[in-house]
Amino acid sequence: MKTRSPAASVRFSCALLATVSWLSPLSAASADSHSAVISAIERATPRANEDARLLWDWAELGYLEQRSAARLAETLRAAGFTIEMGVGGIPTAFVASYGSGEPVVGILAEYDALPAMAQDAAPERSATDHSASGHACGHNLFGAGSALAAIAVKEALVATGGAGTIKFFGCPAEEGGGGKVHLSRAGVFAGCDAILSWHPGDANFAIAAGNLANVSARFRYTGVAAHASVNPWSGRSALDGLMLTAHALDMLREHMPDGARIHYTVTRGGGAPNVVPADAELYLYARHANPDELRDLWKRVLACGEAGALGTGTTMAVTVVNSNYARLPNMPLAKLYDRHLRASGGIVYTPEEHAFAEKLHTTLPASARALGTERDIQPIMEKTTSGSSDVADVSWQAPTGEMNTACLVPGTPAHSWQVVAAGGMSIGEKGMVLAARVLALSAVDLLSDAALRAEVAADFERRKAGRTYQSLLPADAKPPLDYRANGGGEL
Ligand SMILES: [Zn+2]
Repeated sequence: MKTRSPAASVRFSCALLATVSWLSPLSAASADSHSAVISAIERATPRANEDARLLWDWAELGYLEQRSAARLAETLRAAGFTIEMGVGGIPTAFVASYGSGEPVVGILAEYDALPAMAQDAAPERSATDHSASGHACGHNLFGAGSALAAIAVKEALVATGGAGTIKFFGCPAEEGGGGKVHLSRAGVFAGCDAILSWHPGDANFAIAAGNLANVSARFRYTGVAAHASVNPWSGRSALDGLMLTAHALDMLREHMPDGARIHYTVTRGGGAPNVVPADAELYLYARHANPDELRDLWKRVLACGEAGALGTGTTMAVTVVNSNYARLPNMPLAKLYDRHLRASGGIVYTPEEHAFAEKLHTTLPASARALGTERDIQPIMEKTTSGSSDVADVSWQAPTGEMNTACLVPGTPAHSWQVVAAGGMSIGEKGMVLAARVLALSAVDLLSDAALRAEVAADFERRKAGRTYQSLLPADAKPPLDYRANGGGEL
C-alpha cells in the first residue's frame, strides 16, 4: 500500500495551516504554536507509523505489553521526554513528561490487544493463526498516535517558549483489565488541568456523551457431589444455586432503574449429567449511567447471588473482576476537538486505499455506514452510549476530552477482524495522524489559554455536581496483572 508522497504531505499541511489561521481568531502566539505542531507532526509521522506497525505485529495482551510500552517510551525518550516506568505498581504503565510547572495537560494512550483476533492487513478474512492475538480495538494506533501528539506539543513548547507540562500516560490493559481504574486509584492522573483522549473509530467526531459505569464479577458456587440417580438426596447442586440466582436476577430486571443492564454467562456448570455438580460459576456484568444507582443495584445483585446459595444449601463466593466508572463528558473540550477536526478535514484515501476499503466494505452488513463518510466530520456526539471504558475513571480525575477518528473503513464494528485489517495499514495510520494533529492543537490551546482552561474546569465542576470519585472496586483490589497470563480469552 502506497503512502502519501512527501510533496502531497507538504501541500496538505500548508493548506491546513491556512485553514486553521482563517477559521479561528488566533493570537500570534497560538498561530505560531499551531504551525509548530503541524510541522512537528510531519517530521515525527514516519516514526509513529513504524511504532503503530510494530505494536500491531506484537499484539500484546493486557498487562503483558512489555515490548509495546518499551517502544513507545523509547520514542518519547528520544524526543526529549522524561520517562517514569511502572507507575501505579503496574510494570507496563508509564508516564512521559516534558516541561515544568503549570498548566499541565495529559494525553492518554493504550496499547493492549485482544485474544484470538489475529488478522492480516488484508480486506478479506485471512490469518496464519486465528488463535493468536490481534489489535481488534486499534490500540496500536491509540498508543503510537498519542505519542506523536505529545511530541508535537513538546516541539511547539520549544518553538514558542511556552510554559507548562505535557504528560503522556501509557495505560495498559484497557480490555477488561481496568488499567486506568488502578492508575486513577493510585493518583497517577492528579494535577492535570485537562486530559486528552481519543479512540480509533470508523468516523470523525468529538464526543460529549456519557457512558455506563459497570461492575463485572464471578459468582462461584460450591455444593456437594453425589450420584444423580443413586443418592441425589446426598448432593447439593452448585448448578442449582447458580440457576436460582439467574432466576432471581431475571426477576430483578423488571424492577431495575431505567437504563440499567445485567448480562451473564455460565462459565462452569458441571460435567456429566449423572453427577450432581459440586462446582459452578456465573460471570456477570451490571451497568448503569449513574455510578450511585449502580452501587445500589449491585447490592441487589449480590442479594440474588446469596438467595441462590441459601435456597439450595450451597455456598457462594464473589470475585469482582473489574469496575469502570461512568464517563463525565466535557463540552468545552468537545468543542475544541470539533473545531480542530473541522479545520483539519477528514480522511482522503489514495486509489489503493479506496480499493482496499471498497473490498472490505463488502464484508460488512448492508446497513453499515457508507464509504466516503471518512471524509466528513460528524456533529459532536452527545447521546449516552451503552458501553463502558476505563477512560471514564480518568474523566473524574480531571476534565477529559474524547473523540473518534476514522482509522477504520466506515461501518466497521468494534472488536472485529476488519479493525485489525485497517489498523495494520495506511488507512489506520491516516486516522491516527489526524487524531494526533487534533490532540496536539487542542493541547497547545489549553496550555496557552487560561480562559479556555477556566471554561473547561467550570464544566467539569458543574457535571460532577459535588460528587466524588469512589471506584466500585473493593478497597483492597489490586491490578489483575496475570488476567491474560495464559492467553486469557475469557475476559
Ligand atoms: Zn478500545
